[in-house]
Amino acid sequence: MAADQNQFDVVVIGAGPGGYVAAIRAAQLGGRVAIVEKQYIGGTCLNVGCIPSKALLHIAQLYAQFDELGKLGIMVEGRPRFDMATAVAFKDKVVKQLTGGVAQLLKANGVAIFMGAADVRSPTQVHVKLNDGGERDLTTRKLILANGSVPIRPPFPGLDGRNVIFSDDAMNMPKVPESLVCIGGGIIAVELACMFHALGTQVTIVEMLPSMIANEDEEVSKALTRSFTKRGIQVHTDARVESIADADGKKRVMATTPNGQQTYDAEYVLVAVGRKANPAGLEGLTSAGLAMDRGRVAANERLETNLPGVYAIGDLVGKTWLAHVAMVEGELAAENALGHEATMDYNVVPRPIFTFPEIASVGLSEAQARAKGGNIRADKFPWVANGKALASNETEGFTKVIVGDYGEILGAAIFGPDATNLITEFSLAMRGELTADEVIATIHPHPTYSEALREAVLAAEGRAVHIYQRPAAGARQ
Ligand code: FAD
Ligand code: NAD
Repeated sequence: MAADQNQFDVVVIGAGPGGYVAAIRAAQLGGRVAIVEKQYIGGTCLNVGCIPSKALLHIAQLYAQFDELGKLGIMVEGRPRFDMATAVAFKDKVVKQLTGGVAQLLKANGVAIFMGAADVRSPTQVHVKLNDGGERDLTTRKLILANGSVPIRPPFPGLDGRNVIFSDDAMNMPKVPESLVCIGGGIIAVELACMFHALGTQVTIVEMLPSMIANEDEEVSKALTRSFTKRGIQVHTDARVESIADADGKKRVMATTPNGQQTYDAEYVLVAVGRKANPAGLEGLTSAGLAMDRGRVAANERLETNLPGVYAIGDLVGKTWLAHVAMVEGELAAENALGHEATMDYNVVPRPIFTFPEIASVGLSEAQARAKGGNIRADKFPWVANGKALASNETEGFTKVIVGDYGEILGAAIFGPDATNLITEFSLAMRGELTADEVIATIHPHPTYSEALREAVLAAEGRAVHIYQRPAAGARQ
C-alpha cells in the first residue's frame, strides 16, 4: 500500500457514538479521515448499551401491558408466553441494521475504517494491530480519542462466580432469571430491573446511597421507588454491598446497612455500580504527558487535551456518560481539529432514563436551584389530569418545572409517558433562554401529552388550569 494511504488529517480512535460522529463530521469538513475500532462499529451504545437495552425494554413493556388489556376490553385467553431467544434475535437484528448503517455512512463519507486495536504512539502516529492479523502504521495531523468506557468491577469477592452478570451479559440472557439482585440503584440497574421484572423476574435492588438514581430530583427518585415497590420490585437503600457468594444453590449478596449485615439471595446477580474511562492503547500518550483527571482523559470545553492536536470526547472524558453528549462532543472536536472554533456548553443536557414510566430531566433539580438562592418557583402537574394520558391509560407520574427570578426555566423533570421525547421542549426552551411566559404563550395541541408541560409551567407560576392550586405567596399570577 502506498505510504500516503496511511496519512490522514484526522485519525479517530474508537467507533462509538462519539468516534463515528467525529469521523463523519471531519469528513464533511473536507478532512482525510480514518477511524480505528477494535471490537464493534457503534461502540457500547449501539452494541451492548442504549440500543439493545431499549429493544429489550420495548419488548418487556409490551409483554407487561398484556395484564392491562382486559380492562380496555381486549380479552385475551390465558397469558402470552415469552421466548427469550426470539427477543434476543430481534434485538440482534436491530443492532445489526443500525451498526451496518453506521459502517455504510462512514464509507459513504470516505472515512477509512481500520478494524483493529490502536496503539497511539505519539500525537501523530498510530500503530494498528488489525483484527485480521495485519499491522498498519498511520500518521495524522490531528487525533480524536474516543475510546469510551468499561464497567467498574467493584473490589469485593465473588465477581467471577457463576450467574454474576454485567450489563453486557444482560443483553444476551439464555432465559428469564427467576430472581435477580441488582447491585447499585443507578441508571443501568433501574432500567434493567424494570425490564426483568416485566418479564417475570423477582427483582431486588441494593443501593448504598439513601436513594436510587440519586442525581435526579428527590421527588422523581421517591416516585420511582414508590412505583417499583408497588409493582413488587424490592428496593433496599443505605446498603453497601461487600461480597457475593454461593449459598443454598443461589447467589448470596451481602451488604452493610445501618441495621447491620443483610443478605439478599437470588438466582442471578447484576453488577451495575458505574462505568470508568477506558484509556487502553493510549499508554504512548500518557507517557508523553497526556493529562488525566481521576482516571479520565482531561479535556477543555473545546475538547482539547493538554497535548497539541489531540482531542478527547465521550465516556473517555466522562463528563456525563451519555451517548447524545458524546455525539455532540464528536462534532465539535472534529470542527476544532479542522480549524473551526466550537465550544461545548454542558448547561442544557437532557438526562433520559428508560424505565416504565420513563424519566427525563434537564437543568437543575429543585434542591440545586434553591441552593443557588433567589425567588425559585417549582411545582408539578400530574399525568392523571391530562386528557391524553387518561385516554392512553398512562396516568402515573408528573411533570415538574423549576422557574427562576426572571421567569427563566432552571430545570424540569418528567416522570411519565414519553418523557424522554417530551423533555426536548424544555431543553429547547432553556437553550433558547425562553421564559415561563413564552412557554405559556405557546399553543400546545390538544389532546396531547405536551399540554402537561405547559400546565407544569403554569403550576410553577401558581396558575395551573387543570388542577386546583391555592394561590401561593410569591407566585406570579
Ligand atoms: P463507546 O460507545 O464506549 O465506544 C468506544 C469504542 O472505542 C468501543 O467500540 C471500543 O471498542 C473502542 N476502543 C477503545 N479502545 C480502543 C483502541 N485502543 N483501539 C480501537 N478501538 C478502541 N447513554 C444514553 O445516552 N442513552 C441510553 O439509553 C444509554 N443506555 C445505556 C445502556 C447501557 C446498558 C450502557 C452500558 C450504557 C448506556 N448509555 C446510554 C451510555 C452510552 O452507551 C455511552 O455514554 C456511550 O456509548 C459513550 O460513547 P463513546 O463513543 O464515548 O464510547
Ligand atoms: P450509576 O453511576 O448511574 O449508578 C451506580 C450506582 O451504584 C450508584 O447509585 C452507586 O451509589 C451504586 N453503588 C456503587 N457501589 C455500590 C455498592 N458496593 N453497593 C451498593 N451500591 C453501590 O452507574 P450505572 O448505572 O452503572 O450506569 C453507568 C453510566 O451509564 C451512567 O452514568 C449513565 O450515564 C450511563 N447510562 C445511561 C443510560 C441512559 O441515559 N438512559 C442508561 C444506562 C446507562
